[in-house]
Amino acid sequence: MAKNTVTYYIIGGGVAGLFCAKIIKQKVKNAKVVLCEAKSYLGGRSYSYYDEGFKCNLDNGTHVIIGANKELKKFVSDDEWESDIRFWDVSTNEICSGYTKNISHLFKSACNTMYENIAPVIKKKILSLTFPWTRNKTKIYFSKQNLSQKIINNLASYPDEILYASKLNKIECQFGCPAQLILSNRQIELAPDDKVILALDNVAYAKLMGEPTLPCNSIINIFYHTSEPIYLPNGARVLGVLNGLSDWVFVNDNVLSVTISAANKQETSLPELARMVWQELDLLRGVNSAFVPPFRAFKHKYATIMQDEYTNSLRPDSALSGLPNVYVAGDWTMKNYPCCLETAYLSALRAVKATLK
Ligand SMILES: Cc1cc2nc3c(=O)[nH]c(=O)nc-3n(C[C@H](O)[C@H](O)[C@H](O)COP(=O)(O)OP(=O)(O)OC[C@H]3O[C@@H](n4cnc5c(N)ncnc54)[C@H](O)[C@@H]3O)c2cc1C
Repeated sequence: MAKNTVTYYIIGGGVAGLFCAKIIKQKVKNAKVVLCEAKSYLGGRSYSYYDEGFKCNLDNGTHVIIGANKELKKFVSDDEWESDIRFWDVSTNEICSGYTKNISHLFKSACNTMYENIAPVIKKKILSLTFPWTRNKTKIYFSKQNLSQKIINNLASYPDEILYASKLNKIECQFGCPAQLILSNRQIELAPDDKVILALDNVAYAKLMGEPTLPCNSIINIFYHTSEPIYLPNGARVLGVLNGLSDWVFVNDNVLSVTISAANKQETSLPELARMVWQELDLLRGVNSAFVPPFRAFKHKYATIMQDEYTNSLRPDSALSGLPNVYVAGDWTMKNYPCCLETAYLSALRAVKATLK
């Protein structure tokens, strides 16, 4: 090992943890990065898997980014599908455009929180990040190759070592300083200069640190697989859905997916909801479906924390954990920001910078 090597232990292999690895390897000389992930795969809330039944890769939930997501946009290339934001109004069966007119719909999805409950500071932050609302900033990107898969596979090359199925259960301290990481399958002694970045979701962080969890909101995703490619009117790949059961509809060859944000109050069973949504989509597609194609329906109970004023007030103000040499990252750690992939990146940048101070 090179002289003066500092080892960074990153706990959590989601987007924030993986970006930490990338930024450290690019910015810190003589740094060794060891990433510890509780699961047997990387990606956290943004992972892809091969669906045996559908015979294709699926994201755990359709992930999109917008043009204003400066860092994430580096992962999309020109030949990928992209779309200006357009909406399908179920009540009139008309396709319309209008970013400003439908801002409450966009904010609900961006914050996974009902528009009226979103903290005003977060609304203001989104407006400042997306202003001016040019085509470049509001364009929606989603990838044929699965966005999660694309991002995660790229970032996975940065850590020097990845310890899978290595859940951090405790940080053992001596004289107030972190001395040992107690993982589910090993223990790691920490040297005085070693750094630890906790890039965990809020539920895991709260459990580890003995703190209360923040209120969360769920997201429902339904993926339908048809024998023929699916087409939406005007060749659209993405449509916002107004006054309907779902919030967004996406098509990717033979897979049509819908997203329902802020879904805590949705009580219809997932199979029943999948049937109702498919029937509603008949109107858009101008068909009368005799049957519902095979589908996968997921409810992500802890998709993101709520982004209301109360919950936002409880989010951290900095990347400092309160323990020496231990820092925090993750989408929920950036007070006043919407919880999304770009924010996970920004939290990683902030955490790595804090380790260098
Ligand atoms: C269904 C769904 C749809 C979404 N859609 C979008 C979208 O379209 N656009 C967008 O920008 N964002 C979207 N998001 C949000 C986005 O996925 C998250 O903001 C982002 O993935 C958060 O990354 P993270 O690294 O902060 O957290 P996580 O992805 O939660 O990563 C935390 C990691 O820590 C690991 N871990 C937990 N406990 C331990 C432990 N004790 N020891 C070791 N490892 C541990 C976890 O397994 C996980 O890998 C969506 C989220 C969901 C759930």
